Amino acid sequence: MRNPTTTTLGYALFATRWLQAPLYFGLVAAQGVYVYKFFKELWTLILMCVSGHATETYVMLAVLKLVDVVMIANLLIMVIVGGYETFVSRIGLQGHRDQPEWLSHVNSNVLKVKLATAIVGISSVHLLQMFVDVHHTSRHALLWGTVIHMAFIFSAAILAYMSGPMAAHGDRGHAERPQAGPGRTTPPHAERDHGDQRQGKPEQEEPAATPAVPRQPGPDADAEARIRAAGFPARKLLEDFDQQHPRGFDRETVARLGKAEFVAARRNVVLVGPPGTGKTHLAIGFGMRACQAGHRVLFATAAEWAARLSDARAAGRLDAELAALDEYPLLIVDEVGYTPFDAATAGLFFRLVAHRYERASLIVTGDRPLGRWDEVFGASAPALADRLAHHADVVRLDGDSYRTRRATSAWAD
Ligand code: ADP
Ligand code: MG
Repeated sequence: MRNPTTTTLGYALFATRWLQAPLYFGLVAAQGVYVYKFFKELWTLILMCVSGHATETYVMLAVLKLVDVVMIANLLIMVIVGGYETFVSRIGLQGHRDQPEWLSHVNSNVLKVKLATAIVGISSVHLLQMFVDVHHTSRHALLWGTVIHMAFIFSAAILAYMSGPMAAHGDRGHAERPQAGPGRTTPPHAERDHGDQRQGKPEQEEPAATPAVPRQPGPDADAEARIRAAGFPARKLLEDFDQQHPRGFDRETVARLGKAEFVAARRNVVLVGPPGTGKTHLAIGFGMRACQAGHRVLFATAAEWAARLSDARAAGRLDAELAALDEYPLLIVDEVGYTPFDAATAGLFFRLVAHRYERASLIVTGDRPLGRWDEVFGASAPALADRLAHHADVVRLDGDSYRTRRATSAWAD
């Protein structure tokens, strides 16, 4: 058992990380300074060009300077977002369209390497500036510029080399730690974004235990990155699924789907049953297995997919969005049926299902059998259900809610 005093002391110490938050906002102000500097340089360049004073070298130097400013600004964003996420608090961008690729597996090692490579980029631009303007650069400056640039490259290479094993090691710790136990009583969409990611935070900040046998960097770290990027509202393992609970369900099919082979086969899975019977749990469990099998996965509720596709259509880029989603061999659409859709939104789901038909997989969970989907999708329902179900395993879950079962047994205790 842990001593409560030490635990409290530890938490108090841990809370002091918030002292760092203002520093990041200070960097945001610095970012503003760079924006100002950028436009000042740009304005000068335009004026010089308009007045005819700009030589080719001048333009090139000025543009390089602009590139330099942008690169430093990028570096700042990396430190601000990555540093805040690593050392202060999770931002919860999982599944956000603009989530930078590196943020899903950011840790201090990754950040260091990103910084080092950004510095190499900046120093290359500087060196290039010197060479472009070689007549006005002393040999001394040129020599030292080159030497310093080489030093940056060298240190970035060393950092990258060292961080590979370290990052993989760090990620292992998370991969093996199940995040949430069964028996939560809040609806899944209430947990998303704040619930588990936030609660998981202090846990994830602990350094990973040193494994007895040194592990190779590799697939596990990548799987963990995919799991984090998938935007699951919580972590649910198939291993934690109580086989006894839902009175009726097809155990064999669930075990087979757990091998995630349906993803490579581009088949779909439809989970149907009353609330609390574990549809979301199974969908996440299959999704996590797919991540472990090397597939990228994206999870969202039907309402969230509706919003995402509507936004894309409003921006005139629905086709591009559907094509972009091809990057994800598995999409999970949770909670179909909780809100009926208007004809336009139903049409968007039809586009999604038709686009992925025989091309990529979907897991759909819903509270009613496909035969009653006209209550949700109206006239689009038959065509939609037909394509979805053509190559699909339909798992029916019957029985009482696991949530209320937990609640009543708590009372009974
Ligand atoms: P649904 O999506 O069908 O409404 P959920 O998957 O959200 O239900 O399940 C509600 C809660 O009960 C979740 O915390 C889930 O992990 C848990 N749960 C449901 N069925 C089981 C089961 N058979 N074994 C373990 N936990 C379960
Ligand atoms: Mg659910």
